[in-house]
Amino acid sequence: MGVDVATVTDEVEQEVSTGSLPVWDQVERLAQEAHARSHLHDEGVVADYIPVLAQADPSLFGVCVAEASGPVHAVGDAAVEFSVQSISKAFVYALVCEEHGHEVVRDRVGVNNTGLSFNSVIAVELNDGHPMNPMVNAGALATTALVPGASFAEKWEHVRTGLSRFAGRQLELDGVVYRSESATNTRNKAIARLLQSYGRIELDPLEVVDVYTRQCALRVSARDLAVMGATLADGGVNPVTGERVVSGQVCRDTLAVLAATGMYERSGEWLFEIGLPAKSGVSGGIVAVAPGKGAIGTFSPPLDPAGNSVRGRLATAYLSRALGLNVFASSAQPSAQRGADEAGRGA
Ligand code: GLN
Repeated sequence: MGVDVATVTDEVEQEVSTGSLPVWDQVERLAQEAHARSHLHDEGVVADYIPVLAQADPSLFGVCVAEASGPVHAVGDAAVEFSVQSISKAFVYALVCEEHGHEVVRDRVGVNNTGLSFNSVIAVELNDGHPMNPMVNAGALATTALVPGASFAEKWEHVRTGLSRFAGRQLELDGVVYRSESATNTRNKAIARLLQSYGRIELDPLEVVDVYTRQCALRVSARDLAVMGATLADGGVNPVTGERVVSGQVCRDTLAVLAATGMYERSGEWLFEIGLPAKSGVSGGIVAVAPGKGAIGTFSPPLDPAGNSVRGRLATAYLSRALGLNVFASSAQPSAQRGADEAGRGA
């Protein structure tokens, strides 16, 4: 991994760079515009490898922007509930980092993109059983295994209450989705057994898969995703309830992982086009986070070949530009300001 950055950063105060969103009316108008423009697209296919997901209505489309300062802008089907699926990986990761700290989770689970599909078995084999990436199934299973709790029932309760605190309301299990996935998730069971064979999971692997399958079946709306994301954008405090859910450092770590790995094998392309840490799920949700500013939650079931919601990607791309959210965007300082700054520094 190279020299530990802590050798130079230890005891250095973390400075944060934040910006602000446009005024309320403008955010409201742009959220509506994002919905209207993206709604026209009916490309994509609804996922069907979890049988019940195939019944999703492809016309549903919700967009929501939650500001880190509290206001929430919901458009279209933003209150419709669906199973959170892989997006749970981001928030369970944050809860586990909060519990065990940055180094333990980095060493046990990893922070790099595997470059292979989210349910890849080969990725585990190629890396000597190290999961590498908490946003694909192997790494997510290894992460769920680290959830605190003396029993599996306690671990599941920790996950459910933790994700509910991010959302600011009690999230419920979708029993139909849970049973449909439990009956067909032989591949996830195989991945968990493989991790066990490498000594990467010490607990009963099938119980770990069960907690993971439950976490994926929690019901959320696009609005919930926006508030959950805005909590990561607000240094770990839920901007709607005011409750601290995780530390600022955990938010930073989680968003770094999402930037590198949140959008499957298209994470680089997503960052290049949209410039925001984000996570998507197979039922059609996406959450994208603008640190210090807020988050976007979208829901539309039809997926592109990479597994990302077609309309969700388009709406997020529009909002990233129109609201000035791309974390890599900058404009040159006005020249008068540049001169004054240089004079101030004695240049
Ligand atoms: N529960 C799903 C699985 O493990 C989540 C996948 C996803 O959203 N990409 O297959």
